[in-house]
Amino acid sequence: MNIVNNNTDIRSNQPLDAYWMPFTANRQFKQSPRMLVSAKGMHYRSDDGRSILDGTAGLWCCNAGHGYEEITNAVARQLSELDYAPSFQMGHPIAFDFAERLKSVAPEGFNHVFFTGSGSESVDTALKMALAYHRARGDASRTRLIGRERGYHGVGFGGISVGGIVNNRRHFGSLLTGVDHLPHTHAPEHNSFSKGQPEWGAHLADDLERIVALHGAETIAAVIVEPVAGSTGVLIPPKGYLERLRTICDRHGILLIFDEVITGFGRLGAPFASDFFGVKPDLFTTAKGLTNGVIPMGAVFAQDAIYEAFMGGPAETIELFHGYTYSGHPVACAAGLATLDIYEKHKLLTRGSEISNAWEDRIHTLKSAKHVKDIRTVGVIAGIELNSREDAPGKRAYEVFVKCFEAGLLIRVTGDIIALSPPLIVEEGMIDEMVETLGQVLSETA
Ligand code: PMP
Repeated sequence: MNIVNNNTDIRSNQPLDAYWMPFTANRQFKQSPRMLVSAKGMHYRSDDGRSILDGTAGLWCCNAGHGYEEITNAVARQLSELDYAPSFQMGHPIAFDFAERLKSVAPEGFNHVFFTGSGSESVDTALKMALAYHRARGDASRTRLIGRERGYHGVGFGGISVGGIVNNRRHFGSLLTGVDHLPHTHAPEHNSFSKGQPEWGAHLADDLERIVALHGAETIAAVIVEPVAGSTGVLIPPKGYLERLRTICDRHGILLIFDEVITGFGRLGAPFASDFFGVKPDLFTTAKGLTNGVIPMGAVFAQDAIYEAFMGGPAETIELFHGYTYSGHPVACAAGLATLDIYEKHKLLTRGSEISNAWEDRIHTLKSAKHVKDIRTVGVIAGIELNSREDAPGKRAYEVFVKCFEAGLLIRVTGDIIALSPPLIVEEGMIDEMVETLGQVLSETA
């Protein structure tokens, strides 16, 4: 069955209904499907043979770009040597190698890595670790979890409960109880057209004191935030905000979790957001760039003190009743190790710091483009917010997304916000191309 090369085959002969697509208007998509069939470097190729500039590193995950032979070979080698091994009470060397190697890129003190299969699993793992950590220390009353409005933490029940996106929550009942939310940090009236961290809004972190006063610190296990919220339209923490969250958490014995699923592995120009912002959480989640997106995998990094709190009981006890069939999957570990080699060889975990000035300057030239309401940039990320159509919020950005794809540029939209996060190998000429295409498409959009 060939569904890739011939447009007509796909659209007329190939029934598309069997694949229930994620986060997709299935019926709309299947009227005019967009298919990507191959990828190399900074470009995808579409089923009708066009080259598409990857403005989003896939879904914020292919940080080194596409099509590395080194990864292909490492995966093939691992598949032929050991395709799978049980992950409970058993091990295989490559998972230990990968965890050890990850320690060398992680911020100091994060010497323990728990492998998962995705960002959502990493989030639920970190939340469960936080709850179990307090219990392990005899503090079982700390059961409350605090997220943030407009937070995205994947789609597990833990993640949608602490997350702050109404559509991800409203269809699924009452979710986890004992969850509260900080206010989001989006403040266009103070911080419009910001480059890097906006000036206004550090005090928004103080809302955690209000939550502590309301519920009692002794009931709160952890606060989870994305250092930069990506999926809800690129919300960058105001200067001093994360520091203040850290201080308040410390004051009250509350754990701080950073969800680094998109910020991890070089997106901000430093290996992790905690390096970039200079604030250390107790736990942080990753996925996506961990394997350059090529094999599903996630990981939670824990500070020594967290890990050690679990290690006090008799040696034969299972310290954390949690894990996945695919935790530390050997093939994913092989992809991850090869990915780290590529990141190191091309210095990609810090390359963003070299290109972010050019990136931010060029993106901000779109300030005067038609429909543009706000632009926010940091590292190699941009959020371009459009004025919404009053009759149909989100429709304008979706139209821009479709037209950009037709014009050979892959962008991502959420509501009326365009998010850009190209692979970290992006060159200045390609940034110009993105800006030009976007400007042109915006000018042609009603
Ligand atoms: N957390 C954050 C911050 C994310 O951006 C995402 C995915 N966009 C997730 C969690 C969920 O990751 P996954 O889709 O791999 O489950």
